[in-house]
Amino acid sequence: MDQSHIRNFCIIAHVDHGKSTLADRILEATGAVSPREMQEQLLDTMELERERGITIKMTAVRLYYKAKDGQVYQFNLIDTPGHVDFTYEVSRSLAACEGALLVVDAAQGVEAQTLANVNLAYQNNLEIVPIINKIDLPAADPERVKEEIENVLAIDASEAILASAKTGVGIEQIMEAIVQRIPPPSGDPNAPLRALIFDSKFDTYLGVICYVRVVDGQIKPGQRIRFMSTGKEFEVLEVGTFTPERQPGEMLATGEVGYLAAGIKTIGDARVGDTITDATRPAQEPLPGYRTAKPMVFCGLYPVDGADYTDLRDALAKLQLNDAALSFEPETSAALGFGFRCGFLGLLHMDVVQERLEREFNLNLIATSPSVVYKVYRTDGTVVDVDNPAHMPPPTTIDHIEEPYVAATILTPKEYVGPIMELCRERRGEFVHMEYPAPDRVLLKYDIPLGEILMDFFDQLKSRTRGYASFDYELAGYRESKLVKIDILMNGDPVDALSFITHRDKAYERARQIVEKLKEVVPRQQFEVRIQAAIGGKIIAAESVKPLRKNVTAKCYGGDITRKRKLLEKQKEGKKRMKQVGSIELPQEAFLSVLKIG
Ligand code: GDP
Ligand code: MG
Repeated sequence: MDQSHIRNFCIIAHVDHGKSTLADRILEATGAVSPREMQEQLLDTMELERERGITIKMTAVRLYYKAKDGQVYQFNLIDTPGHVDFTYEVSRSLAACEGALLVVDAAQGVEAQTLANVNLAYQNNLEIVPIINKIDLPAADPERVKEEIENVLAIDASEAILASAKTGVGIEQIMEAIVQRIPPPSGDPNAPLRALIFDSKFDTYLGVICYVRVVDGQIKPGQRIRFMSTGKEFEVLEVGTFTPERQPGEMLATGEVGYLAAGIKTIGDARVGDTITDATRPAQEPLPGYRTAKPMVFCGLYPVDGADYTDLRDALAKLQLNDAALSFEPETSAALGFGFRCGFLGLLHMDVVQERLEREFNLNLIATSPSVVYKVYRTDGTVVDVDNPAHMPPPTTIDHIEEPYVAATILTPKEYVGPIMELCRERRGEFVHMEYPAPDRVLLKYDIPLGEILMDFFDQLKSRTRGYASFDYELAGYRESKLVKIDILMNGDPVDALSFITHRDKAYERARQIVEKLKEVVPRQQFEVRIQAAIGGKIIAAESVKPLRKNVTAKCYGGDITRKRKLLEKQKEGKKRMKQVGSIELPQEAFLSVLKIG
């Protein structure tokens, strides 16, 4: 197709503002799917995505649209994940486009992820087409939303399209705006090949499938290609597009979006953000902006039943085929046995991986509390990265510790500013900036330690603002903090999986909360159980669980034998979910209790 008739665009929105619904309407309007095939939110293919209503893996669809000028245009719609954990992926998929449809909910207005996504779109020089969606809602207030778009996003809202992805109002106008307002791709067809990988996934038959945007040159089957970050070379076996089904084609031309398969076995060889070039006629410079997605949050994953260890390893390896950002390596814990230290982009990513392991691979898992990566400066001048509290060097060998911070943006109705500031203060946040983008709306900026956000910050924010505040963040480097490691001991033995790191000023409070919580969840044993929290060798909180006196069958009065047997069976059943720690049996809940205390 003539390059001037290609439009590459994506849809950006805060979660729930209607991105997927609008994508469905666009698919319908181009006839890519018949109404019968139309299943709501076609682009969100993974079962988990549908259930959670989020987009985890993005997809690209090619559509043909006959515009009012009588010409046929090729649309490449690239779906982006909306969540902060996947910012790097969002940024790469934006880099594959010339324009973005910016969807803002007509009742909710501009939210934190709207702002974050618009900033990314600006960085990628995209033409932004603002769309005010859900105008069918009784609470819709398009005028107020226009004001917010201008004040918060600095975008001219006079040409914003009023739409309802639900009823279909404004869809035609959106289609024409894509043609008229989004520029065609500008690459050079005669230059050496440069293609951006904006996503990749593993296919059992084809190996790794790279989703690419051809910037210069073209890609054809048989061509020898090179990945510029690694220098690895492969021969292209297949190229094609998604309609949305995969459809092989003859080539991908300059400016086009599609996929390629080249018999690549590991997803790590086809990293998002990398540039593909022609091996026989390589480009001088890769496309800008490549970096490897780095895990920010770590936790230990252990099978409840030790016999499932190899199953867990195989499952992680399988998930990693589709998810280059997931890392794992073997780890042993005195308390939990053999397991894996796993690294994730963020909390949602961690949640999704755990859920998939349990659901798709039928594994019963124990996860330790999530941890960030601390930089520990030792007195001998060396620096170590610590992603597991149990591996923190002894306090006497530490000069100082640095922890990761994020720059957080919060948008909220005015009346919740007080509770939000209080929450940020509790989480050691440093106030940076405040502004009023519209009457009754406030934008707050804080620098907050990432570790504090892991502890249910988002849930707290939602509950203290009745769900009205929105929140987004980006990493903002490391800073020195007065951090200490707290060990939990049971009858004098440290339970490594329960160790955690916290700020010195919060140490006593957290230690007390956890010890009290553990007292509730540790079942009575034949002997007394002492539960202690300690920093270095110093005990800072203690409780004890009194020993059990009676046999559990005693209350059956020796009578009904079947009832007695049932009771014993039930006891045995309960044991399955227990972990033996030294001489003590701990329920799975005990390991989660550390996490739950905010
Ligand atoms: P996404 O998270 O941005 O992909 O949002 P979705 O497309 O999943 O939409 C979130 C919710 O808003 C769903 O329940 C949709 O049915 C609903 N929705 C989307 N567009 C409209 C609209 O124009 N009007 C109304 N009333 N609801 C809409
Ligand atoms: Mg969606």
